[in-house]
Amino acid sequence: MRRAEESLLNHSPENQSDFVLLAPLTGPMVPLVEVPDPVFADGMFGDGIGIDPLAGVMVAPCDGVITHLARTHHAVTLRTTQGAEILVHIGIDTVELAGKGFTPKVEQGASVRAGDVLIEFDADYVAQHAPSLVSVIAVANSDAFEVVSRAGRGMLRAGESQLLVLRGKDGVKADAARSTSNVTEEARRSVTLGQSGGLHARPAARAREAARGFDAKVEVRFNGRKAPIESVVGLLGLGAGEGATVELLGVGAQAAAAVEAVAAELLREAHGEVEEKPARTRSPAPVAVARDTGTPLDPNTLAGVCASAGIAVGKLVRWDDNDITPPEQATGTSAAESRLLDKAIAAIDAELGETVRTASQRGAVGEAGIFAVHRVLLEDPTLLDAARDLISLGKSAGFAWREAIRAQIVLLSNVEDALLAERAADLRDIEKRVLRALGLTNTAARQLPDEAVLAADEFTPSDLSSLDRTRVTALVMARGGATSHAAIIARQIGIPALVAVGDALHAIPDGTQVVVDASAGRLEYAPTALDVERARLERQRLAGVREVNRQTSQEAAATSDGRTIEVAANIATIDDAKIAVENGADAVGLLRTELLFIHRQSAPSAAEHEESYQSIVGALSGRTAIIRTLDVGADKEVDYLTLPPETNPALGLRGIRLAQVRPDLLDDQLRGLLAVKPFGTVRILLPMVTDSGELVRLRKRIDELAAEIGRTDPIQVGVMIEVPSAALLADQLAQHADFLSIGTNDLTQYTLAMDRCQADLAAQADGLHPAVLRLIKAATDGAAKHGKWVGVCGALGGDPVAVPLLVGLGVTELSVDPVSVPGIKALVRKLDYPLCRQRALDALALESAQAVRAASREIWPLD
Ligand code: PEP
Ligand code: MG
Repeated sequence: MRRAEESLLNHSPENQSDFVLLAPLTGPMVPLVEVPDPVFADGMFGDGIGIDPLAGVMVAPCDGVITHLARTHHAVTLRTTQGAEILVHIGIDTVELAGKGFTPKVEQGASVRAGDVLIEFDADYVAQHAPSLVSVIAVANSDAFEVVSRAGRGMLRAGESQLLVLRGKDGVKADAARSTSNVTEEARRSVTLGQSGGLHARPAARAREAARGFDAKVEVRFNGRKAPIESVVGLLGLGAGEGATVELLGVGAQAAAAVEAVAAELLREAHGEVEEKPARTRSPAPVAVARDTGTPLDPNTLAGVCASAGIAVGKLVRWDDNDITPPEQATGTSAAESRLLDKAIAAIDAELGETVRTASQRGAVGEAGIFAVHRVLLEDPTLLDAARDLISLGKSAGFAWREAIRAQIVLLSNVEDALLAERAADLRDIEKRVLRALGLTNTAARQLPDEAVLAADEFTPSDLSSLDRTRVTALVMARGGATSHAAIIARQIGIPALVAVGDALHAIPDGTQVVVDASAGRLEYAPTALDVERARLERQRLAGVREVNRQTSQEAAATSDGRTIEVAANIATIDDAKIAVENGADAVGLLRTELLFIHRQSAPSAAEHEESYQSIVGALSGRTAIIRTLDVGADKEVDYLTLPPETNPALGLRGIRLAQVRPDLLDDQLRGLLAVKPFGTVRILLPMVTDSGELVRLRKRIDELAAEIGRTDPIQVGVMIEVPSAALLADQLAQHADFLSIGTNDLTQYTLAMDRCQADLAAQADGLHPAVLRLIKAATDGAAKHGKWVGVCGALGGDPVAVPLLVGLGVTELSVDPVSVPGIKALVRKLDYPLCRQRALDALALESAQAVRAASREIWPLD
């Protein structure tokens, strides 16, 4: 810097393209790094210099055109004849003054000469009302022009002192420079993160998407760290957890719009965040046990957290002692290594794209979400730049990739946020995948023994997706959390899994026989013959109960006194439909269609709706299917619909209300539903109905659409009872509906005012609360007045403690997870309706959900 300062004093352009900027303000020079605002000091606006003004006059630093005059008159951008974009910004955070104290003397678009007055300002007023009067002169298109020398410390006089000498960079034509954005806006705002879990992978990826397409650079800052919005890895490394306040800084022509778009994304609540909370409505939440109970552990036992329930006996197989170690030095040129890396990344990207597609089709929403995030990480500029830098230093593609990833892993592990630290596993995963795609491997396909209990520090999702699942009986991890992606996949594939066992896991030798009681959160690593025997017996007993239940699962279920209860299945895909049939489901009680189309980029057409439903109906071998119209919004988000952010989406445009803004979506779906053959197999279910007015309107629309395709056969239309008003008005709804189906998940959420996605309230948000039971009774009573039947398709229908009470309240259909059908049918057969009725009515008078649970378990103990 000092050399440059001196050189400017006698600068005589040795290069034809050099040109001089004069000081636009009078006052002492301030080096850019000392400007009291990191946005300028870090060069986000481009290279430049500061001046601490002593007088309130800003002049043009050279001849040019005013390409932008800030609305608040505190800054101008001037394009020089050479094409450089020069920003002169008076004071710090002066945008906040909203123009007060500034008087512009030129208009946007004006041609000016060096020394012409551009803005006059009240220096005293600005000094008193802004954090600092220090002003900045920056080259906004620093990619095209470099500062070759600059003024030294000391006094500068507006329009007289030489300030900077600029030079066009090699290869950059002035025309090209001119074509870049000619407006330099700045925008900044703070955002308190609304996403549960904070700035983790999915929100980070979505924030990146939100900024795309704007002519602006956006940076996120938190706790002294910063990351460009394009780098999801960088954003994760900020360690900004739930409730953290981050600062968004935008620079560029559309800075304000870009910052607002990112802010809106970060502010919104996590809707159906399948990444971290995928299993809320579909599988039981993992519970931490043993560690929290305070119960002393037996010797030779390690405690962990249950990530997927079950019990298993097997031989411990260490899985992660097989790191791939690439050679450090490149064998080819840097360009060749770069190409190898690009090719490997492209191959993995394609592979992941396919995985996402098939997982979405299977309805494995959690799995699809995980691998979609991996695709985003693959194109992360922070990782790619770091790898390319290493390649340019002569390192091999594999080595460079591994080092780039590992540097980020170190950053993430320093973040004090368990959720973010878990994302390190995702990075390890893409590290391994890319290394394998580069042809590097030292894992000769491992031959697993039967009953392998795989142990790892932490499994990556791709470890699990490539497993020989027939040989793996359980998973154990030293680290990881119940929300890690591996845990999600373990639950989906039904393998017992224990996480967070600690480093002691590594001390257990390969091949040791172990008992994994995931449900109890225990790993026994020196079990006695008796322990092993007990565990095997328990596993067998559970399997035996399942088998016995399966044997009768194809038969209809009725209580011991002959009241038939239809046990149907909740499904989302054709695979689920097949599993439902195998498990003896009498029908499909709920097809959640939003899950069928969740990862599409565009809304399905009527023909696509029809085709999907037709194939599902085909898989049901004559069983009927209740198909719910799209229930999008709140916790269920689909990729093809970007709804405007809502402050309170659970109470917003969701379910049937979406038709108020997008009637076309519902019309297309109804057309598809009406076309499915044979007529009569499909019944329509409408979600989030509030009162009969909505139902009557929708029925009319269904009739119109049926007439359009010439259908004369009637179609049954049912209503979800999941809003308290619908339960209270069930008699009115039942007058116009063919059946009612109670969505206890939402009914509980709205009755108890407890977010169904809020983990801290999970234990209290219990559908057996007497208030919810009273609403269920209102629904069955209302339906009975018109001879209509009532089902339950919320999770309560599959809860063995709740089933007797639901039956007692008059529910005659239970729609549950496909694999739960045999167990629920077996339970129904043991019930006696009059007893259920009596005890259910008694339960209405109890004071809490716990009291109801206790009473039910006393009368109907669990197996
Ligand atoms: C419910 O709310 O209980 C229900 C079945 O619908 P979903 O879980 O899809 O909101
Ligand atoms: Mg619902």
